[in-house]
Amino acid sequence: MPDATRIAADLRTMLGQDAVLTALEDLTKYESGWRYGKGRALLVVRPGTTEQVSKVMAYCHERNLRVLPQGANTGLVGASNPDASGEMLVLSLERLNKRLEIDPINRTAVVDGGVLLSTLNEALSTHGLMFPIDLGADPTIGGMIATNTGGTRLLKYGDVRHNLQGAEAVLADGTVVDVMNHLRKNNTGLDLKQLLVGTSGVYGVITGAVLQVVPVPRQHATALVGCTSGEAVLALLKALERELADVFTAYEVISANALIPVFKHHEAIRNPYGAAKPPAYTALVELSSTLPETALNLPEVLEERLGAFLEGDSGEGLTDVFMGKPEDFWAIRHHISESLRSEGKVLAFDISVPRSRMAAFTDAAVALLAKDYPFIRSCDFGHWGDGGTHLNLVWQEADSPRPTAEIVEELQSTIYELAVRGFDGSYSAEHGVGPHNQRFYDAYTPEAVKAMNQALKQQLDPKGLLGTTRLGLLP
Ligand SMILES: Cc1cc2nc3c(=O)[nH]c(=O)nc-3n(C[C@H](O)[C@H](O)[C@H](O)COP(=O)(O)OP(=O)(O)OC[C@H]3O[C@@H](n4cnc5c(N)ncnc54)[C@H](O)[C@@H]3O)c2cc1C
Repeated sequence: MPDATRIAADLRTMLGQDAVLTALEDLTKYESGWRYGKGRALLVVRPGTTEQVSKVMAYCHERNLRVLPQGANTGLVGASNPDASGEMLVLSLERLNKRLEIDPINRTAVVDGGVLLSTLNEALSTHGLMFPIDLGADPTIGGMIATNTGGTRLLKYGDVRHNLQGAEAVLADGTVVDVMNHLRKNNTGLDLKQLLVGTSGVYGVITGAVLQVVPVPRQHATALVGCTSGEAVLALLKALERELADVFTAYEVISANALIPVFKHHEAIRNPYGAAKPPAYTALVELSSTLPETALNLPEVLEERLGAFLEGDSGEGLTDVFMGKPEDFWAIRHHISESLRSEGKVLAFDISVPRSRMAAFTDAAVALLAKDYPFIRSCDFGHWGDGGTHLNLVWQEADSPRPTAEIVEELQSTIYELAVRGFDGSYSAEHGVGPHNQRFYDAYTPEAVKAMNQALKQQLDPKGLLGTTRLGLLP
């Protein structure tokens, strides 16, 4: 076991007293994840500059100390927490948050890896700009790059990968790699920053980024549309894209089982269906535009088009159209996960399949669960516009006939097998890879891809000191 007292003293000499945390009560919040992941840290080190990150990494490399980069710890696959060994240093980026430079004409922001999304957007708002990745948490930019965060507006803006122009990273031995590209066009060989995107921080610590940013829309229009089936949800998506693609921003879909608990646990959130039972699915449709309402009245356009769909051929399977304020409808969407947790034990899945197969996949999963696990309620919701669904399974532990861990393992294997092999899907649509889904990475990643990851790891972190996720095992 590494000597924590000695290491803390060395790091304090290097970075200052406040940079190192060792008291048990101070370590707790870094040791447990939002949903999954719980371990023990040797200590937490919080460098404030890239140079300090480099010094810490060089120090750890020399002594074979394992390091886990951590941003805001909002990750959902257990990858942002140390393992149970008690040997890992958590390298928190929370104090690496000073650099925040905006170039409104280049439409880029240069940020430190520990800058929070909310801080960035606040600074950008004074220029009428925003970073368009939108989600119900407040992560750091480094963490967003390491997990390639998707969010609710991927349909229009893409994920982090699509909005990242440059990056700076510190490798396991302390080498600083600067690819802080400010250019929109730069075809000069390997796009090295992509190695850092969605790879859970196992190739290097992301200390800086150049982000593309976009104008804040001047207006939004939202509607909830009731649909009798998944096929009706897809028909509506097709019709919306055909007619409103220029301004179509988000398409989130909520099953009745996921919707009802929101109103049950949040009386202040209005249920548009009132006393009536919601249909199988409710689609949240959002349009947005930088045009002023005088040039294009989005609520009117949306209401008119949805009304026409309801009356016409695209209306088959549509039951209701409710126009409403974006903040009210998004409140429904953002309260689902937490409302489901109030219902019982939740096992969450973050699955994607080709969009055209979303309905078939969901129907197959629900049917399979109803047959083999009748005590489980399938509460699916998610980003159908991107082919993503959060299939959340809810049950009361008392109803479960077998130990929970056994059922969890069985359900994961069954559902992921159905998604990956049955529907050409992914076991991790947007949350990345970590201990929570490691065995599915191991099972479903082609051997040639694993070998390439292994070669990269060997080159960038030959001692295998960074992270808990294994994208490529060391020989
Ligand atoms: C309520 C809620 C809603 C969410 N909604 C969405 C959603 O809609 N879409 C979506 O994609 N995700 C969503 N997430 C997941 C999560 O917010 C993202 O994965 C997030 O971007 C992680 O950022 P973080 O700063 O919290 O990183 P952490 O959780 O701290 O770390 C995540 C991973 O990145 C690594 N890492 C962190 N910082 C660095 C760094 N500087 N350098 C190298 N590696 C690093 C960690 O080691 C770990 O592997 C949601 C999470 C919550 C809690």
